[in-house]
Amino acid sequence: MQDKNKIVIIGDGFAAAVTAIHLLRKGVAADSLTIIGPGPLGKGHAYGCASPSFRLNVREDLPIVFSEDPLHFARWAKTNIDDPEAKTSAGIFYRRADFGRYVSELVAAEVGFDQIQRISSKVSRLNQVHEGLWKLEISDGDLFYAEKVIIATGNSPPRWPCAIKIEPGEQAASRLIENPWTGQYLTAIKAEEHVVLLGGGLTALDAIYALASQGHRGPITVVGPRPLFPPTQAQWARQKQPNWPEKLSPAKLLRFMREYLPSAPTASTEWQCAWEELRPNLNAIWQQFTPHQRQSLFKRLGWVWSLYRFRASPQTIKAYEQLRENHQIQFAVGRAKNVDCSKGAITVQLNNGQGIQADRIVNCTGVGADLFLNTLITDAVAISDPLGHAIGVNTNLNVIKPNLQAWSSLWMLGPATMGSLGDVVAASAISKQAEELASQIASLD
Ligand SMILES: Cc1cc2nc3c(=O)[nH]c(=O)nc-3n(C[C@H](O)[C@H](O)[C@H](O)COP(=O)(O)OP(=O)(O)OC[C@H]3O[C@@H](n4cnc5c(N)ncnc54)[C@H](O)[C@@H]3O)c2cc1C
Repeated sequence: MQDKNKIVIIGDGFAAAVTAIHLLRKGVAADSLTIIGPGPLGKGHAYGCASPSFRLNVREDLPIVFSEDPLHFARWAKTNIDDPEAKTSAGIFYRRADFGRYVSELVAAEVGFDQIQRISSKVSRLNQVHEGLWKLEISDGDLFYAEKVIIATGNSPPRWPCAIKIEPGEQAASRLIENPWTGQYLTAIKAEEHVVLLGGGLTALDAIYALASQGHRGPITVVGPRPLFPPTQAQWARQKQPNWPEKLSPAKLLRFMREYLPSAPTASTEWQCAWEELRPNLNAIWQQFTPHQRQSLFKRLGWVWSLYRFRASPQTIKAYEQLRENHQIQFAVGRAKNVDCSKGAITVQLNNGQGIQADRIVNCTGVGADLFLNTLITDAVAISDPLGHAIGVNTNLNVIKPNLQAWSSLWMLGPATMGSLGDVVAASAISKQAEELASQIASLD
């Protein structure tokens, strides 16, 4: 058996880097830490992107790493980022790649960073050998042992939402983009091509902004169940606290929110101030609902939440509006049923019978399933969260066992905790989790 690694963090993105920073700052010994993940530390799927057109969807004062110094990134950015296009009337929206550079440099500058063990691989299985000892299997078959494990595997890349049929001999791989998050696929797209985007969220808007920036002249079709994009970010600020009623049911919550929000456009400062005033209390309210209430709320209104909660940078929406004015972009309302590649042509068939011929298909349908988390469920280490998206955790981030007790040495943080804890997707919400988790773990030693 190999030496025990006292604390292992599974994952190498933003959540892993920020957790490592807070653990070190709380006095956890650097040589007791191991981080396992395939890429450079701190970037992950969101900030490890290649495209200079992929921007943060929040202004510079909002991605917070240190709660006691919320403007740390904004200050760093002023001296370390040269990006005149970042400035808008709603604030400064930097490139995601620059934010990734910030996080990587931040963690690398921590005292003790060079003593952290890094394993460039993926964890495929995790089981408890006995109380206080976890066994981790990594992709190359090696085994690792740890006393404490933190899961920070983040957002799994998108998977095709429909069947893909490729006739033998067709050279389709570069024309069917299953995971567009890095943006590497963009440079191969010729200006006259017809590009079909499956999904109408922020990933589709990233593609639209990048295509506009590279002078795309061909048509773009967005396939989705609704002909809508998230609104642009406005210059909002929280001005007051909502006076929440007691004992909220989902119906009461929705009624209260509807009454609280002004009848102004969702892209207006007035509407976004009110929306942001509501948000800080929503996680605590979400956690009080039963699993059944959460499921029905998410089923009915998950799409509304995603639309308005994830607003887009002004640069991105401006690019979309420009393409719309040029009549270059259109929505095809429906869902993709299958994609066919034969005789040199690509066709997307929709569930409403419509067929769309395309030169390139980009899968912008959002987060895919995390196979590692699924394995934890099938191995009876964890249970599914109330939404069936990931594994369940309690409010201290301890993973919940099938007998509904919490593991005292296994935690998870980041976007996969959403089904259990509410809206924990943005960088600042993850940093808050990392700070709290680091305090908890440091106090155990
Ligand atoms: C495309 C995109 C853009 C976004 N933009 C913004 C934004 O502008 N502003 C904002 O606040 N939030 C944004 N987010 C939200 C995002 O949830 C957080 O900001 C943050 O990046 C999440 O960090 P993470 O470390 O949890 O996840 P990730 O960034 O997904 O990192 C997880 C890492 O773990 C690795 N990993 C996965 N499974 C394993 C395994 N089994 N073993 C080892 N390693 C593994 C992955 O390879 C990955 O590198 C965005 C998310 C995405 C996907």
